[in-house]
Amino acid sequence: MIRVLDNFLINQIAAGEVIERPSSIIKELVENSIDAGSTAITVEVKSGGLSLIRVVDNGSGMDQQDAKMAFERHATSKISNASDLEQIVSLGFRGEALASIAAVSQVDLFTCQKGASIGTHVVNHGGAIVSLEGFGTPEGTCILVRNLFFNVPARLKFLKSVRSEAAAISDLMARLILSMPNISFKYVYDDKVIYLSSGNGDILSAIVTVYGNEVKGKLIPIDKQDMNGKIKAIGYVGNQTLTKLNRNAQTFFVNGRLVKNFLLSGCLSDSFRGSIPVNHFPFAVVYLNIPFDDIDVNVHPAKTQIRFKDERYIYQTLFRWFGDTLRERNAQNFLRTTAMSTLPADASIETMTDVSSYKEFKPSFGGQVAEGLKESVMGYAKVELNQTSIDDIPKFNILGIIFNTYIVVVGETELFLIDQHAAHERMLYEKFKDDLAFKKITTQLLLSPIIIELNKIEMYIFPNVLQPLLYIGFEIEVFDQSSLIVRGVPQLFIHMDIKTFISNVIDQYDTHKDLTLDFRLEAIIRLSCRKAVKANDKISDFEMNNLLEGILKNRIPLVCPHGRPIIISLSQHEIEAKFKRI
Ligand code: ADP
Ligand code: MG
Repeated sequence: MIRVLDNFLINQIAAGEVIERPSSIIKELVENSIDAGSTAITVEVKSGGLSLIRVVDNGSGMDQQDAKMAFERHATSKISNASDLEQIVSLGFRGEALASIAAVSQVDLFTCQKGASIGTHVVNHGGAIVSLEGFGTPEGTCILVRNLFFNVPARLKFLKSVRSEAAAISDLMARLILSMPNISFKYVYDDKVIYLSSGNGDILSAIVTVYGNEVKGKLIPIDKQDMNGKIKAIGYVGNQTLTKLNRNAQTFFVNGRLVKNFLLSGCLSDSFRGSIPVNHFPFAVVYLNIPFDDIDVNVHPAKTQIRFKDERYIYQTLFRWFGDTLRERNAQNFLRTTAMSTLPADASIETMTDVSSYKEFKPSFGGQVAEGLKESVMGYAKVELNQTSIDDIPKFNILGIIFNTYIVVVGETELFLIDQHAAHERMLYEKFKDDLAFKKITTQLLLSPIIIELNKIEMYIFPNVLQPLLYIGFEIEVFDQSSLIVRGVPQLFIHMDIKTFISNVIDQYDTHKDLTLDFRLEAIIRLSCRKAVKANDKISDFEMNNLLEGILKNRIPLVCPHGRPIIISLSQHEIEAKFKRI
């Protein structure tokens, strides 16, 4: 039998589309507050948003009639006819957020218009208005959402853990703070103030609220406009020392709207390629202005996807801008870190990107800049041949090291190139796993403990990586609300930058996957071996021989722990074929 669905059911179905998880509710509520012209917005959350979400604003408020209407599906004050759809300036306009939220929770709405003598209190449970009365309440609007999905228990099952919902909310709050530097946001989680932004309109101050003071000295401002006046970009990108192992620290806004766009993140990565380590991602908070005519906005309110009409132009322009920004800063740093006397008079930044000049200039590099540049040269010099399996290596003769990376070894009928970093890494990895299996890991206590400052999101993630860290021999614990303390480190880590290592461990932890302990452990061990090689990248003759012997005896698998080959070979036959002798 065909029947027309009742309104409750319709709203519950709609809720499935609009309300994916607690953070989507907060997004909708905060966007409503922004649309209402608020300058201060407080978001309070308990238990990952499942037990309580409270959003308080100082915006326009609603009169009693509107407070009731607001819960109706397709009730909106933001558009009234089809032509309004063409030029949408407000964030929400479909008029379904409040109806959808109320359909699956218990909502209290307190609201009062500016100058009104009395406000309104509406209670809505599961989509039905339970009470509506005049109520003394401050100007603005306060919405409480309790017991989310109380009437659709099946939806609860699809939620991630409280911790990952909390992480998603923190992430959202961070992006809201970045998107609206002129609004003061207060974010309180389980009674603790997590973020408090000034709302003074300063982008840098918003970035520092989210990422902490330590990023300050590592940011490069960007402020560009193209010749046709079409694209404008302001904001900050991180220098080479501020990179992450995922794209979470890349935030792009287009015309004020947070967007996820591969063209933008890809373009940023492309322009940094060679300047930062492989698999690292640049930091960025960039605000773009592009005429509405030049983009296709997907008008679904929950989506952050957009398409540019002229992708090539946007890509080329931004590629140049990002690259210029980095090069300008590099040039400054380069001059600062290099003693003039050690530089040839005609040296310029460009010459450093070729391998031969790198060797020549090497002694004059210092600190972080040198690291970045070295990576760039390594990347450039990478030898790529796709042969990943050699069974047996006969007698060998080490000819030397080329490009500072590859050990050249000649056997009876073959030439081998061994990536010393990859091989070294594999060797450490095998040893570490062995030591772990036989409980041979020793912890070296530090003379003075290391305090590591983390931002809020990192603090949320940390408990997920604590256990594996303890297991491999760290003595580490939470120190206070925003920092960790490290008292001891495993032997292998002595020369490492512990701070960077820990934040890399946290970075590479994927909040979207519920990983087993083994999986997390494996990831951390792999990362540690990679870092250990970096920290101590000069390999001694003794080690090199050990390495070759290890390979010879075939104790070392011929790929590094992430699957890159350790060794490639070129047979006499192949060489002769190349010279067209056969
Ligand atoms: P939409 O935002 O798409 O219009 P919503 O369901 O989110 O739909 O909200 C319905 C209406 O309720 C809005 O159009 C607005 O008029 C009113 N409203 C919601 N939240 C607020 C708020 N915080 N302050 C003032 N008005 C609000
Ligand atoms: Mg809305």
